[in-house]
Amino acid sequence: MNIKNVLKEKNFTFKKSLGQNFLTDEVLLGGVVEKAGVTNDVSVLEIGVGAGTLTSEIAKRAKKVLGFEVDKNLKPVLDKTLSEFSNVTIDFRDVMKVSMQEIEELAGEEYMLVANLPYYITTPIIMRFIEDAKNCKAIVVTIQKEVAERIVAKEKTSDYGSITVSINAVADTEIIEYIGREKFYPSPNVDSAVVKITLNPDKYYIKDIVKFRNLIKNSFLMRRKTLVNNLMKGYNLSRLDAEELLNKLKVPLNARGEELSVKEFIDLAELI
Ligand code: SAM
Repeated sequence: MNIKNVLKEKNFTFKKSLGQNFLTDEVLLGGVVEKAGVTNDVSVLEIGVGAGTLTSEIAKRAKKVLGFEVDKNLKPVLDKTLSEFSNVTIDFRDVMKVSMQEIEELAGEEYMLVANLPYYITTPIIMRFIEDAKNCKAIVVTIQKEVAERIVAKEKTSDYGSITVSINAVADTEIIEYIGREKFYPSPNVDSAVVKITLNPDKYYIKDIVKFRNLIKNSFLMRRKTLVNNLMKGYNLSRLDAEELLNKLKVPLNARGEELSVKEFIDLAELI
């Protein structure tokens, strides 16, 4: 099916403010869905179905798809592009206004989140599923390349930061595909990558997750400052007390947040 023709036929006008840059290459999308590990026993949640191009490739391979799309003007387009599938349900609501409990009730069972995310809510959506979802097994999302690289970054690199530590403490991460800007319609001014985040709650033992998240937030408060300075500010500590924590961890006193491994942050959270 020629998606560009369907969009024209239904008089669809793109809204940049909703991050409407669609992927139309079926071969590329099919490959992404396969690499994501979608098989006929997997239920999928898709956020931002757009014209339904990714949805179709998921529907061909998955048990079922629950899709959210905020733009009701896409309904006539989707009625046409998804007409052959009986395993797809589209919910025309802003996913940010639907509680996690309701999303998971609608999904009905364990599921995988697969999406080409609207760029303006990429991080909030990923963090929401990392922190609040109970039945989400994996998150496979097409996002701005730079954000994907931050998610999979190794310590002691400039890409490593709070998002890296927060996600890799509870999940395994990898980039499974790079997608150039020219593959999108219309083309955005950034390249993208597909990151696969496999939830792995047994990866580390984290005694108090709230305390751990708070430490990550405080440790990267000011990126140019040392960890000692960030801990002093975040926890209202004296320099001596902050240095004592790092001594116990055997971390150099001039270290910055990006020098600590995920495991060292977990150990540090227990000391605070
Ligand atoms: N999945 C399609 C594809 O790959 O071509 C479309 C992806 S496009 C980058 C993002 C889609 O998310 C748009 O269709 C947009 O209308 C929708 N969207 C944006 N904000 C949303 C929200 N808060 N809730 C649900 N959908 C949203």
